[in-house]
Amino acid sequence: MIKKKFFWLNIVWRWEYIFAIFFLFVCGFLGGVTRRGEPVDAPALLPSAIAGKTIIIDAGHGGFDPGAVGRSGLEEKAVTLDIAKRLKRYFSRVGVYVIMTREKDQDYSTMHEEGALTKKRRDLLYRVRMANESKADLLLSIHVNSFPQSIWSGAQCFYDSKTPESKRLAEAIQNSLVTRLGPNRRKAQSADYLLLKATKIPSVTVEVGFISNPREEELLADAEYREKLAESIFYGTAAYLTQEARPAAAMATKPNGDGGETLTAKVYPELTFPTLEPGTACLYFANPNNEDLGFTPELRTLSELAGTSKLKKAQVILEELAKGPGEGSALLPCLPGGDWVQGLQVEGTRAVIDVPSELGAFINGGGASELLAIYSLVNTLAVNLNLKEVTILVDGVKNATLGGHFLLGDAIKPRPELGPVGAETVVGTGY
Ligand SMILES: [Zn+2]
Repeated sequence: MIKKKFFWLNIVWRWEYIFAIFFLFVCGFLGGVTRRGEPVDAPALLPSAIAGKTIIIDAGHGGFDPGAVGRSGLEEKAVTLDIAKRLKRYFSRVGVYVIMTREKDQDYSTMHEEGALTKKRRDLLYRVRMANESKADLLLSIHVNSFPQSIWSGAQCFYDSKTPESKRLAEAIQNSLVTRLGPNRRKAQSADYLLLKATKIPSVTVEVGFISNPREEELLADAEYREKLAESIFYGTAAYLTQEARPAAAMATKPNGDGGETLTAKVYPELTFPTLEPGTACLYFANPNNEDLGFTPELRTLSELAGTSKLKKAQVILEELAKGPGEGSALLPCLPGGDWVQGLQVEGTRAVIDVPSELGAFINGGGASELLAIYSLVNTLAVNLNLKEVTILVDGVKNATLGGHFLLGDAIKPRPELGPVGAETVVGTGY
């Protein structure tokens, strides 16, 4: 009798085991479908936070403007359009309405935009207008990066420093890209992309990788990799929207502390330029590492700097900048060699410099190379001449662009935080 009872209990337990195994299997399966590839620390996605939203996706460049071009001939405009279309599919599947700035190889250079003299500017301003008139919840602009040297790689998100929501969106997408596609030590960074500055909704430029890096160029040419990029951007955006839908208090108590911090994060760290010894020039060259887009300033002793006018000093310093980093330095030049200064004026704390449009060829359509070229010039002039702002003209024209991402309209304020002078400052040997 007792034996029988135990036997019966054994049967029950076995059914419990079977049920438990079946339950775990179902949970695992559902989890696998809904959370496929999701980073471990990401918040669970709230479908209600995503469905019903409107997103505008901008495939960078197009038509007359190929953007950055790789060694194999791969063009940025084709890569961005393909990723944008894949991204649209991801959003459409979860009830997000998607507006595309373009769905074919085209540009908007023939559209009339007030005060836009150049083709590139008309194209960019038309996209800005589309974004602002779309009443979308956010803008994702897809680009491919490039730099004159091939060593850099890795996807990176950019945001306008004045929009905290854009920063959070950029960080969420960056986190997703790093987690899903790594290894990548890049972080979301602020940058004055025209599109990001001029749009009134949270907006991010995703530079999906460096076409100037042969390994990454190969990846960007691979449809499977582009699908992964689209998937990563989708999950990052969805994580941002989910986070936004939660009360602020919950964000502030997030275990890793990120949420609270980013809400009040300072836009630019308040760094200032160093005071230079007389006869010392401080030149801004790019960091050689594969993590930050930034500079390491090189200090160089130049006898020509002593007792001369501000204008002459500026000319000497720009000649030195064009020579590139000192011998044996691992730093990278952000501007080409030779004489590319077509005009120069220095008045008080302001300078105006005129450069030829050929500088655009050195930049090769890359957002990173354009950003660094601009600030290599502005920071170098500012630190050596105590300037507050620098206006860059291209072939004598204001409001021009060198690489198609940044508008050289307003006078540009230097950004000391892109290359703090400190322990890492290189004291150059000169030539
Ligand atoms: Zn681009």
